[in-house]
Amino acid sequence: MDDEYITIEIPEWKRIKKCPFCGTNAAFKGVKTYFKPGVKIECPKCHVGTSRIITGRYMFYKGKKDVTFTMEQAINEAADIWNNRVLEDEEEYETISIKVRDSNG
Ligand SMILES: [Zn+2]
Repeated sequence: MDDEYITIEIPEWKRIKKCPFCGTNAAFKGVKTYFKPGVKIECPKCHVGTSRIITGRYMFYKGKKDVTFTMEQAINEAADIWNNRVLEDEEEYETISIKVRDSNG
């Protein structure tokens, strides 16, 4: 299923790492899946990214029962997933802007 892109607002400054493959600055992307908004982080060049973190209630998420994601929590979760790679150098981080607009959306 193709992603439908939506505009999301990043509520605070988020530090995310550069793409592990090409070094390009990654970006938050607002997505919509089955009418629910969500977010993922993706490299605009080689399109590797996190899976979509969709807002709403989950029976199970990462071994926890009954987890609910607001958009802000989904953004934090996507950032954690994207940043949680083995990269040795702090300089791999880039600070990205507060607001993200998607040209596709
Ligand atoms: Zn890349």
